[in-house]
Amino acid sequence: MHFFYKMTKSQQKKTFSLRALLLPYTGILSVMLLFNVLMVIFTIGSVVLIEPLVQLLFPGSIGAGLSPMSSFFLQLINRLIPFSFEQDRLFSFVALFIALYFGKLFFQYASAWVFAPARAGVMQKMREQLYNKILSLPVSYFTEQRKGDLISRSVNDVQEVEATVLKSVQQFISEPLTVILYLIVLFYLDMSFTFFLLLLLPVSGTLIGLTARSLRKRSYRSKVLLGNLMAHVEESIQGVKVIKSFAAERFAGRLFQQHLDTFTREQKKIQRTVDIASPLSEVLGIAVVMIILVTGGIMILSGHSALSPALFITYIVLFIQIINPAKNIATAYANYRRGKSILARVEDVLEADAVILETKCPQNIGKFKEIAFKNVSFAYEKKEVLKNVSFVLHAGETLALVGASGAGKSTIADLMPRFYDVMSGEICLNHINIKEYGLNDLRALFALVPQEVILFNDTIFNNIAFGLSGVSQDAVYESAKIAGAYDFIMAMPQGFQTEVGERGLTLSGGQRQRISIARALLRESPILLLDEATSALDAESEKALQQAIEQATQNRTAFIIAHRLSTIRHADKIIVIENGEIVEYGTHDELMERGKRYFEFMNI
Ligand code: ADP
Repeated sequence: MHFFYKMTKSQQKKTFSLRALLLPYTGILSVMLLFNVLMVIFTIGSVVLIEPLVQLLFPGSIGAGLSPMSSFFLQLINRLIPFSFEQDRLFSFVALFIALYFGKLFFQYASAWVFAPARAGVMQKMREQLYNKILSLPVSYFTEQRKGDLISRSVNDVQEVEATVLKSVQQFISEPLTVILYLIVLFYLDMSFTFFLLLLLPVSGTLIGLTARSLRKRSYRSKVLLGNLMAHVEESIQGVKVIKSFAAERFAGRLFQQHLDTFTREQKKIQRTVDIASPLSEVLGIAVVMIILVTGGIMILSGHSALSPALFITYIVLFIQIINPAKNIATAYANYRRGKSILARVEDVLEADAVILETKCPQNIGKFKEIAFKNVSFAYEKKEVLKNVSFVLHAGETLALVGASGAGKSTIADLMPRFYDVMSGEICLNHINIKEYGLNDLRALFALVPQEVILFNDTIFNNIAFGLSGVSQDAVYESAKIAGAYDFIMAMPQGFQTEVGERGLTLSGGQRQRISIARALLRESPILLLDEATSALDAESEKALQQAIEQATQNRTAFIIAHRLSTIRHADKIIVIENGEIVEYGTHDELMERGKRYFEFMNI
């Protein structure tokens, strides 16, 4: 199953831009540029040594005229070692060459070295923004399909952006200047010849560009395929128990295999395109040198060029120096284009609409008195899930919601903290529409105990105190006691400091639920939103959990999605919901007396 879906993009101005992220590093980039210039100067210095060296080894071969650059170096050597044998001068040439070459290497490294913090810094900011953005996205954004895809985007794509876009930024800054500096020297050596050779550059550029284009298309497709693959891995890890219990390893494996096959095929094609790029550019490089040799040779032979043999060699070596940076510009451009399409996938997430819009001037919530649903209707996509739901929950009451699975119970609970917004009707808190309050203020009113308990890979203490800073030990112990979790936690080897382990696999379902209740109680939020665990518990756990829920809901406002009959009995009010509509409403005794849906429900 492929999902080339389009994420909703904000219509408002762009909130993310790579340029803005790079802006603070302008200083670093200029220093990098300076080091680069120095590197080129040192390279040129080492190359032009060729001419005086030839002059030294084959005196007279150059003829009367020595180029000013070479004269400069010869004079330099002469001044350094005035009266010496030819051999000593040769050694001095070698020493000078080594010094210049080291200088070149030093500045090459220095230029990369100063860029490193910019590169790492931009990546850090991008990862930070992405993570914060993901947390700020509405619950509705996280469909099963998107979860794996989001992971793929925030791990693989971000890494790819670093390897392509940021690397090409670095090359775009340094390489053109390098080429220009070399060209200046080449023009200085032989103007018309250099002009002629320059005409060759666009030809090789186009050839490289062609491979790059096919690479770009393929790599975007490969990213989408990798997203599918990650979605599958994520699903399998989440549902590992289900897969094992249904002995569905083969089935899951087959699906994975299909995704993997498509992905691998694409990767193979990409690798081949990448592989061809290198021999292709080598052929181009050799061709350029051959052309220089042939045309330059002809010009020299026919007396049209003033270049001496030594200068001709210098010229060729210098021209070869241009090939790499010129190629780098072409690949940087290709990389940049490729990276842009991957960056677009990251931007999709960064620019996704928050959907749940917050009011600009939020009302003060004050003390919680009541929350009322008024003719609320809701649909996830097209299918209507809630129809004209109305009820009131007053402070101090416990309201239980019962109904078959899929009736819309969790949806009602999700609407209160605005995980989703109603389609029609309204939800009022203390007689004001909940949209008039700040989102964080509103959510702080609810302490959520979700059906599927999420425990983090941390100590039990930190799992209970999750999200709160500076919580006292007494407070954590106290809420654990109310939630009936204190005793079993203390019985563990390290008590509250016991590590939960990945996804809490070391705890029983009932224990996990009680830790989750303790976490909710610690928050001291006025309303407890409890989605009872449906998973089967043994009689003892069930009883312990039951007691925990009773204790926790005493003297508190509680909204319980009830699966256990005993919870319902203690509720002040009970709502029976069927296909998104409230069909009955009252206390346990009232509803039993009526003998209709609730009665049937209890007697199943
Ligand atoms: P309950 O909690 O009573 O089992 P829910 O409120 O979870 O019921 O679901 C009500 C209906 O809405 C079901 O038909 C379910 O398939 C559908 N539904 C729930 N969550 C989503 C979602 N995120 N996207 C689309 N449909 C959903």
